Amino acid sequence: MELTYPADAEEFRAEVRAWLEEHLPDGWFDEGFEMTPAERKAFNQGWTAQLHEGRWLCASWPEEYGGRGLPTMHAVVLAEEFHRAGAPMRADFFGDTLVGPTILQWGTDEQKREFIPKILSGEISWCQGFSEPDAGSDLAGLKTKAELDGDEWVINGQKIWTTQAGYADYIFVLARTDPDAPKHKGISYLLCPMKQPGIEVRPIKQIDASAEFYEVFFTDARCPKDNVVGGVNGGWKVAMTTLGFERGTSATTGYRRFEKELEGIVELAQRNGRAQDPKVRQGLAHAWSKVQIMKINGLRSLSSVLHDTKDKGVATLGATNKMFWSEYHRDVMELAMEIAGMPGQILTGNPQAEESVPGYGARRTNDEYPASVLQSAFFFSRSETIWGGTAQIQRNIVGERVLGLPKEPKPA
Ligand SMILES: Cc1cc2nc3c(=O)[nH]c(=O)nc-3n(C[C@H](O)[C@H](O)[C@H](O)COP(=O)(O)OP(=O)(O)OC[C@H]3O[C@@H](n4cnc5c(N)ncnc54)[C@H](O)[C@@H]3O)c2cc1C
Repeated sequence: MELTYPADAEEFRAEVRAWLEEHLPDGWFDEGFEMTPAERKAFNQGWTAQLHEGRWLCASWPEEYGGRGLPTMHAVVLAEEFHRAGAPMRADFFGDTLVGPTILQWGTDEQKREFIPKILSGEISWCQGFSEPDAGSDLAGLKTKAELDGDEWVINGQKIWTTQAGYADYIFVLARTDPDAPKHKGISYLLCPMKQPGIEVRPIKQIDASAEFYEVFFTDARCPKDNVVGGVNGGWKVAMTTLGFERGTSATTGYRRFEKELEGIVELAQRNGRAQDPKVRQGLAHAWSKVQIMKINGLRSLSSVLHDTKDKGVATLGATNKMFWSEYHRDVMELAMEIAGMPGQILTGNPQAEESVPGYGARRTNDEYPASVLQSAFFFSRSETIWGGTAQIQRNIVGERVLGLPKEPKPA
């Protein structure tokens, strides 16, 4: 395997690096750099605008819709440099990672012109209305329905676990538009405005007092007729595309947040003496090996995409990826809490600090339950084998679609 990048990609790397050095706050790269809560808040507020101005957000998107049309290799270099610098890249996960690329793939020209520039500028934020109380893993069993009334869809039903529904401007929502069709075939993918009387959101408060997701109730909610992505009753394939983006991760950067986090866990074990324990040492070595596997698999995927090898082995990597990293993370966070020992049970976070957990954005901490960065990561790791499709469902996909095993029996 050739592990160097082409010269033009390295030139681009220098350009990105120079931009970051110029625009990040003074001292950002210095050992022990810290910001006061007020400084961090100001930085977070201004940074998205700077990224937009520099045209770094979603830079691989086509130029006609405001992207830079970056080729794959350059997009990888861009992601690597932002990771190296520890600079935040994301404006709104649901917009720039899920619905944006989905609209680019399946949307009409009008939809692309309407929504893509607003996603890039951060003008509108999104939430994902897929799961329902009786339709999670069995998503195609969803019951929320939409009926056409003149120029609008009228939506009735309920969604649940809808992250950031409390402040999103739009929801990409799956609704049944043909109740008589087989269940996968009667679903449409609608882009529906959230701020309207027909939509009520209720936060779901969790045991740690955070409330990142919501129940969303639709009672004669209105959605423009033309906001259907992928055609009326064509929503299933579009939803699968969105889930593919949710489960995917950047080939050569996905492992980096785990690598950095593991360094911190090793340091903790060295500091508190647990690194002397053979079982802990073995656990850490095991974790390190898994991070190396993620790194090498990432390079394999990148190499396969660049050389268009269509290698069957690499195709299976995409399918196993979500299962692999989420289970790795759940296990390593359990190890981290074991290493932290009894002091790890004490809540030592500072909710005012507005620190972020690498890879997750805002930290799950608040005045009622001031969890530290490590504790926040531990809690969130419990959800990672669930959202975007559970680890068991990923195994079914690998078994049925990749290995060609018989389909699981369905209830009669
Ligand atoms: C942090 C977080 C954020 C989320 N955000 C969103 C969001 O923004 N929008 C949204 O729409 N949803 C969201 N979800 C919901 C998420 O997509 C669902 O929780 C997930 O799809 C699982 O569905 P469920 O909770 O109904 O569990 P169920 O489907 O009821 O599953 C329960 C258990 O049964 C297992 N199981 C079910 N079917 C099978 C099968 N066929 N074979 C083997 N095992 C099976 C599952 O693996 C699981 O262990 C979020 C979830 C979490 C945890």
